[in-house]
Amino acid sequence: MTAESFRREIAPCRTFVLKQEADQMLRHGLGTRVTPKNLLVFDQQGPIENELRFDNECARHKALDLIGDMALLGREIAGRIVAYRSGHRLNAALVRELVARFAEVAPARASA
Ligand SMILES: [Zn+2]
Repeated sequence: MTAESFRREIAPCRTFVLKQEADQMLRHGLGTRVTPKNLLVFDQQGPIENELRFDNECARHKALDLIGDMALLGREIAGRIVAYRSGHRLNAALVRELVARFAEVAPARASA
């Protein structure tokens, strides 16, 4: 992935929720300023009041989440990551494990 392919292929991919999850958040007073135009809300027929930017936009958003979470590692990763039903919690667990295993052999980059 290059900076350009990230900008074009991954960065535009929005987060998404199921309608029942959105309804539950609203009942708890969360996301009251968010509309189905801001993020993808899915019902049985697909996105509500919205259109996908890519056929696999949700999978691309998961890649976006993973790339962002791996960036918190502060290290170059030479390898391949395969994620299945991933989320921030799982990604963070991977980052913690990588730090625990490799912090001594691959010190974090100095922050800018
Ligand atoms: Zn996300």
